[in-house]
Amino acid sequence: MSKIDKSLISLLGEEAKQNCSFCGIEKSTAMWSGSTNVFVCHKCAIEILPNFIADAIYNRHTRFSDCLDKIEKNFYYAMANNLDVDLKRVLRGENKL
Ligand SMILES: [Zn+2]
Repeated sequence: MSKIDKSLISLLGEEAKQNCSFCGIEKSTAMWSGSTNVFVCHKCAIEILPNFIADAIYNRHTRFSDCLDKIEKNFYYAMANNLDVDLKRVLRGENKL
């Protein structure tokens, strides 16, 4: 199963950060582990990935509003997971907020 692995990059530090798969310039802030690893930087996550998602779901005979609801739910779920990981690190004294 594939997943975005921000925590892996956080745990391994700067060595795990490769150049972004989209722009090829910036260092990645997240990695998708699928059949191949895809890296994305903060800027492309905001500016490119939404376009990429739109291209991927366009013309799939699904209602756009249903897709947007699922995208929004998955986005907030992922953000909550990131906050949970960061909060646990703060509680262990490893990170500051
Ligand atoms: Zn980028």
